[in-house]
Amino acid sequence: MATAVKEQQLTIGDVRITYLSDGYALVHPAPLYPMSTPADWQSYKRLLDASGQLVCSLGAYVIQTAHSTVLVDPGVGPKNNVFPLGAQYGGKLLANLALADIDPASVDIVFYTHIHSDHVGWIGQKTQDGQTMVFPNARQLVRDIEWRRFDDPNVSRARVEEALELLQDHIELVEDSQCIAPGITVMATPGHTPGHSSLVVQAGNERVLILGDVVHSIVQIDHPEWACTLDLDPEMAIQTRERMFRELARSATIAGTSHFADSVFGRLVQRDGKRRWEAL
Ligand SMILES: [Zn+2]
Repeated sequence: MATAVKEQQLTIGDVRITYLSDGYALVHPAPLYPMSTPADWQSYKRLLDASGQLVCSLGAYVIQTAHSTVLVDPGVGPKNNVFPLGAQYGGKLLANLALADIDPASVDIVFYTHIHSDHVGWIGQKTQDGQTMVFPNARQLVRDIEWRRFDDPNVSRARVEEALELLQDHIELVEDSQCIAPGITVMATPGHTPGHSSLVVQAGNERVLILGDVVHSIVQIDHPEWACTLDLDPEMAIQTRERMFRELARSATIAGTSHFADSVFGRLVQRDGKRRWEAL
């Protein structure tokens, strides 16, 4: 049975990348992927829990280089969210940062792959001094298109209202292909949201692609055409997924996923004429 990842770490060159759990989500698989049928899921029982729900990790990445500490997507926050589609249980990120001996004050940059509730949970917190920023010394970076999409009054702010408010006075907008720190570059990966972005972490000839929500589950390695119901532009999300799978097929490239269970890191390999996920 699948379990959400608690902590996982890898090193390329002098860069250490740590995934730290904020909690987990349990999601009804067939509604998440409307193109799938309950019968399809018979072959993916290993990804489900005993009640037939897809087990998803929820957490954040911390990238530590010789120059800087970058935290990507600060979790779902100290709350549980229940949706018709499933439920998210958060709240563990700060304790897990402490266990990993990472001081929030040492984070230089917080980067948001996109603004969805499970990626913006620990921006601020209520303390005895009132509302304070969780990562007080960090620049807060998001791609211009992702931030500006909320200028449209028709775009829903549900569940991200507080995040948008907290970021208002701190946010710095970045562009596709921008280097946000030595060895760490933004790569536009639209579809899940219009301004969705991944990060390319390069050390020597090795690289890790921090994918954000380009792909939510291992099933999409077999079925990249299964649009996730949370993808705002499903067609573009499929194209982006295919493009990123081609990137991952290149040598010395590792994927860092957001929501895979058991292992968030892995490689895409070609075996018996088929693309396969090889967890690290
Ligand atoms: Zn997500």
